[in-house]
Amino acid sequence: MNAVDEIKNRNLIHWFRKDQRVSDHEILSRLAQFDSVTAFYIHEEKYDAQHPLGFDWVSKKRKTFLKESLLELAAKLDLLGIGFHIFKNINELEASRILQEKTLTYQRCYGTEERKQENNVLEIHAEEVYTFNHFTLVDQENLPFELHQMPKTFTPFKNKVGKYGSYSQTIALPKLPKNSISFELKGGENPALNRLKYYLNDSNLIATYKETRNGMVGSDYSSRLSPWLALGNVSARTVFDYIVQYENEVISNESTYWLIFELLWRDFFQLQLQIHRDRFFKKGGIQQKEIKSSQNEQIFWQWANGETGDDLVDANMRELNATGWMSNRGRQNVASYLIHDLGIDWRWGAAYLESQLIDYDPAGNYGNWMYIAGIGHDPRPFRKFNTQGQAERYDADRCYRDLWLK
Ligand SMILES: Cc1cc2nc3c(=O)[nH]c(=O)nc-3n(C[C@H](O)[C@H](O)[C@H](O)COP(=O)(O)OP(=O)(O)OC[C@H]3O[C@@H](n4cnc5c(N)ncnc54)[C@H](O)[C@@H]3O)c2cc1C
Repeated sequence: MNAVDEIKNRNLIHWFRKDQRVSDHEILSRLAQFDSVTAFYIHEEKYDAQHPLGFDWVSKKRKTFLKESLLELAAKLDLLGIGFHIFKNINELEASRILQEKTLTYQRCYGTEERKQENNVLEIHAEEVYTFNHFTLVDQENLPFELHQMPKTFTPFKNKVGKYGSYSQTIALPKLPKNSISFELKGGENPALNRLKYYLNDSNLIATYKETRNGMVGSDYSSRLSPWLALGNVSARTVFDYIVQYENEVISNESTYWLIFELLWRDFFQLQLQIHRDRFFKKGGIQQKEIKSSQNEQIFWQWANGETGDDLVDANMRELNATGWMSNRGRQNVASYLIHDLGIDWRWGAAYLESQLIDYDPAGNYGNWMYIAGIGHDPRPFRKFNTQGQAERYDADRCYRDLWLK
């Protein structure tokens, strides 16, 4: 329930999760309502752990991006007079006793580990708690359907929500910077707003997004907003508001709509995770289907290291390992190849992308993997990509493959 506006005259403690920004923020936009505000963040339990296959659950690049985001947040909170504590784990939080006699607020998250962490925090704190659900663009208080009756596939979901439909209202639209630079892959609200400004107003790249979005070379073929959306450095509704402003002031075309359409894909997976929860991470997916796969470590590592011999897959995995980034086209191909050509357990591939992707998000990552494996909600039984054909279509001049393989 979103009841944050009901909280008055409390000593508040806000738990920052995937809402790492100060503008358009449920609590910070209402500071005058409270007697005092303190804030904290806890690292995920797996932060320093390794997957059984031997890779870090959170790669160094992901850690750096998160650290940058938290540092910027700490500096901004300091200017607002809000103390910000970062805890390594739940024990540190408990020992600090900072939850005592406070009203706790936080944004809800629905991944298995995120819910476990929430339960652990609630065990320490048994007093007043307010939560909100503003990670999505759609307004979850006013969905045009009951959540459990949400359409099972994307197209009817998108049609029900509508083009400018049941969206969440921005609380306070952040100002975009005066000047922008093209791309700085750094965590935090400022780099997020900088990228938004660049992609829309300064470069007009959004006006050709539909034609360029399947690209793989450079940083301008798509918005590249996902790393910041994943940490909540910018809210989806802020991105939406600026797209609409762009449509009103510059041009409204298929491309501008297509970016909204992609934000709805994001919402689709977020809401599906809320419904299906732990099944998102299970072998049979939300369909709980029996599927065959192997757990051959040697084949897995050839894929992970970009040494399969399929040059589109290898180029993409090498880009991922070097930068923490891969295009959507690349992600679809590497996932399909691991599942359908190599026959490996999809959860190994999903875990590896979880480790490496700077924009890692449980719903977006595991939801897309299930979709390709044919165990999510998809009108087609599964999605197999012909990687050779895809290379010819999307990298005809070999520019992308040469960049990463030579
Ligand atoms: C196997 C696989 C794993 C993925 N893992 C993640 C992940 O961990 N985190 C993540 O944010 N996205 C994930 N995606 C979705 C998508 O690839 C990325 O969101 C997109 O490539 C990010 O680039 P962008 O910001 O330039 O996207 P744009 O094309 O500019 O789209 C704008 C925004 O829409 C959302 N979006 C776009 N496509 C999708 C999609 N298919 N599913 C959900 N949301 C989408 C993202 O928030 C994105 O930032 C995955 C896709 C696949 C196939």
